[in-house]
Amino acid sequence: MEEILIKKVENYDDYESILSFAKETIDSFLMEEADLKGKRILLKPNLLMKKPPEAAVTTHPVVVRAFAELLKQKGASLFIGESPGGKNTKNSFEKALKVSGLEPIIRDYDIDIVFFDSESEEKNIGGKLRANLQIFDPDDKFDFIINLCKFKTHGFMGLTCAVKNIFGFVVGTAKAQCHLRFTEPEDFADMLLDLALYIKPSLSVVDGIISMDREGPSSGRAVKTGFLAASRNPFILDYHLSKAAKLDLNRIYTITASKKRGLLDSEYVVKGDTLDLLGFEMPQKTRVLSSSRIFKWFRGQLTALPYYDKNICRKCYECIKNCPPQVIRKDSKGYPVLKDSENCIRCYCCVELCPYEAAKIKQPLLLKIFKKYL
Ligand code: SF4
Ligand code: SF4
Repeated sequence: MEEILIKKVENYDDYESILSFAKETIDSFLMEEADLKGKRILLKPNLLMKKPPEAAVTTHPVVVRAFAELLKQKGASLFIGESPGGKNTKNSFEKALKVSGLEPIIRDYDIDIVFFDSESEEKNIGGKLRANLQIFDPDDKFDFIINLCKFKTHGFMGLTCAVKNIFGFVVGTAKAQCHLRFTEPEDFADMLLDLALYIKPSLSVVDGIISMDREGPSSGRAVKTGFLAASRNPFILDYHLSKAAKLDLNRIYTITASKKRGLLDSEYVVKGDTLDLLGFEMPQKTRVLSSSRIFKWFRGQLTALPYYDKNICRKCYECIKNCPPQVIRKDSKGYPVLKDSENCIRCYCCVELCPYEAAKIKQPLLLKIFKKYL
């Protein structure tokens, strides 16, 4: 029987409640397996990009602190690792750790930084797609992996929570290659499931005190949802929280793929508080049918395209650098424009990685008309 632990926590100032949740989580899910003294534990937060904690894009440092403090007290050796979106250097990774508020925690608890990009290798991750991916392979380097994710909507997958957070093990620009290879959301979700089954986190913890809805994972609305949750099973955890938030499960591709593979068949119990998350909104619809099932022309009319707001754009060109098929160009004034919409794969990496929320998604007229009916 799988277990999910949930605790309602009003805000990040309530460190006592966050610490008590971390203690209960560690006692329920890790301590029964082993004495933690001397164990090597990797913490994998969501560090999508260089954003401060109040932006609700990254895992809040107070949640990471609570786990680090308790695990250190128990004598564990701690590591923290991630590969943020886009091209990374060690320097840019360290800046992301600093801006997201993780740097003092790393110092206070003597945590070793693992920069996934510099230790990556090509691996066949097996599973359904048997794909070769450029990943940081935790292999037998750690005794436990704690997946510390954020509860957010996601323009392409519908949701990023425990399962999608593991995509951070695919390094830097190899993420863009994944988008080029798995252009259909159903295939991309299958790749994510294969990866989650390969990496096998020992524990997934969800920071849902302040979450992100609407146009997540980086340009959405920071919204108070007031909870922390944990489970050993990332598939069931995502499923349960999405149901609690009354999300349209058919629009969350990792959940539909998990259902198909029987990954949600196990029975589970929820311990702690009951969640009823009202008013949490999905992103706008970006497609009404899988593009593999319709003609290419219809794909253009029935799937949303990105655009770049010149009034907000700061010409940093992160969108251009991170577009997998390289279909964004500069116009005569140096602003990014989508030059080749036919070959835009609708991955929305440009929207996700724009640091200034200038890249947005535009629904074409036909999509607006048809989305209610298809
Ligand atoms: S990433 Fe955003 S701010 Fe930077 S060039 Fe593109 S649209 Fe402009
Ligand atoms: S333009 Fe944006 S949505 Fe289209 S392929 Fe490039 S990154 Fe993906």
